[in-house]
Amino acid sequence: MASADIIPFPHPKYAGTPLPHVEPLPETDLAELQLLNRLHQHLELQTLIEHFLMAMCTWLPLCGIRYTLADSGESFVAGRITRRASSTALRQGGETLGTVELFAFSDMATQAQTILAPLVSPLRNALAYHRAMSLARRDTLSGLGNRSALEQALATEAARAQRFGLPFTMLVVDIDHFKTVNDTLGHSAGDGVIRAVAAELAGCLRPYDQAFRFGGEEFVVLLGQTGLVKGMEIAERIRRRIAARCRPASDPGRKITVSLGVAGFDAAETQEHLFNRADRALYRAKEEGRNRSVAATH
Ligand code: GH3
Ligand code: MG
Ligand code: MG
Repeated sequence: MASADIIPFPHPKYAGTPLPHVEPLPETDLAELQLLNRLHQHLELQTLIEHFLMAMCTWLPLCGIRYTLADSGESFVAGRITRRASSTALRQGGETLGTVELFAFSDMATQAQTILAPLVSPLRNALAYHRAMSLARRDTLSGLGNRSALEQALATEAARAQRFGLPFTMLVVDIDHFKTVNDTLGHSAGDGVIRAVAAELAGCLRPYDQAFRFGGEEFVVLLGQTGLVKGMEIAERIRRRIAARCRPASDPGRKITVSLGVAGFDAAETQEHLFNRADRALYRAKEEGRNRSVAATH
């Protein structure tokens, strides 16, 4: 840091002047201040509510907390969801922050407003951060997650698979002969086809599945808690659905098809290796005539 950035304390103009006597804070205020200070260090909503719960557990018989965003309905849970002690819609400065539910081991006389007070302003910051990150991880054309969202989700799925032994399957999906759509109908018709395929992919997802636009006319789908056999079944369902429903708006007679490479995650492989296997399987699907799904080998 440059010396000009250093702010001396106390300020030189008070040098020699005795500092005014300040009464020490009562213990409860001090604890609240320390908690607030600790909570302000967390910008991720998940870790914020985990730390909040941990701190509150030392004072109250709380065992869980669920925070639900007002706009997306997305929710974050820490601890155990048991007996609900309170449900509070939080607002600050005219802004709706969402709903916080507290869960307790036993009956608890809740003064939710008081309990939640230290959470409000750290939550507002974390929510702003969450919204900014969500925007940064969204592909604007398709509305799906982008490549950076994929990288994060893949790391999470791989860690979960390695830790709990849960399988997951990756689909790499590529639109067939897409260049001819652009060349004959124009780039904006091509964009419309990318949007239509993305909408069909999104429409096929189950609760643990996620779809991303990897780039150009390529997509990746992560099928949570799904092995290769079931993954192939889903890949075929997606393929048939797209072939049956996707048409360029300006040429409804033209069928749009996709090819898919399908790879089940092996806990001993890297994420990059998984992607390469799925991508090689996609290449084979193209070679074998397109509009088909091919399972990856090891
Ligand atoms: P294949 O069946 O082998 O996949 O052939 P293809 O024509 O689909 O593949 P190729 O890689 O030759 O062409 C992909 C084209 O996608 C080329 C590129 O200009 C176009 N493209 C990439 N991103 C976009 C986009 O965002 N919008 C539009 N309209 N076109 C895009
Ligand atoms: Mg293509
Ligand atoms: Mg391609």
